[in-house]
Amino acid sequence: MSNVPLTKDAAEEAAPLAEDLVVLDSVNKHFGALHVLQDINLTIKRGEVVVVIGPSGSGKSTLCRTINRLETIDAGSITIDGDPLPDEGRGLARLRADVGMVFQSFNLFAHKTVLENVMLGPIKVRRQNKDEVETRARELLDRVGVGTQADKYPAQLSGGQQQRVAIARALAMQPKVMLFDEPTSALDPEMINEVLEVMQQLAREGMTMVVVTHEMGFARSAADRVVFMADGRIVEEAAPHQFFDNPRSDRAKDFLSKIL
Ligand code: ADP
Ligand code: MG
Repeated sequence: MSNVPLTKDAAEEAAPLAEDLVVLDSVNKHFGALHVLQDINLTIKRGEVVVVIGPSGSGKSTLCRTINRLETIDAGSITIDGDPLPDEGRGLARLRADVGMVFQSFNLFAHKTVLENVMLGPIKVRRQNKDEVETRARELLDRVGVGTQADKYPAQLSGGQQQRVAIARALAMQPKVMLFDEPTSALDPEMINEVLEVMQQLAREGMTMVVVTHEMGFARSAADRVVFMADGRIVEEAAPHQFFDNPRSDRAKDFLSKIL
């Protein structure tokens, strides 16, 4: 009898978390005649950091956008923590809340303060208590190093600070996975590291992350796996040292020779 859970809750707590957090199965997408995602099979494990690299136009952003359903797919399936991506409605809002996204262009609300930017999602979507949300928002802003900027407006911050606020805003939703689409590409060079350091820290803390980036130093040190895309396909995936030191495909060799 000792192993029989007493309540449904206990049974749920006892169940181990599924190892596969994001699963893309034969995902295909077209933009008109352009086959932008071609038979994408990709499984991201809980706690894994996957860096996606590849030439411009290879479908990296589209891949990210399908994972939180900013883009629909034509065929195949995507599941997040075992749940298929719903088409619309409250299920979609809930699922989106599980997938944090950070874009190249910060996308903060210009007419709201830094603190308000971070508080908005948890209050509107998660419907959490305002005081608790504020406490957590201030903690997150401290963690990304902009705690003293809470009452300013985005335009009063540097690009690096704005991007760190965008990361705090995404984290405030307590997402299961974070997607980063070229988060440092729009930053002045001296601000890139302050953003990468926040991402490194998140990775160390065990956040599941998909990161599209051209920062190969970050890929080498933070990634568990590198996924190389070209022409809408995953051409190669490997551990970072293996990929950078011994790329197998000509496409990857060619790409690396141009950027390294
Ligand atoms: P990457 O992020 O790797 O540079 P994208 O996913 O942004 O690539 O784009 C892949 C291809 O899809 C490109 O050829 C791009 O022009 C095209 N594309 C992206 N978004 C759209 C869209 N909304 N409508 C039509 N074509 C698009
Ligand atoms: Mg892109």
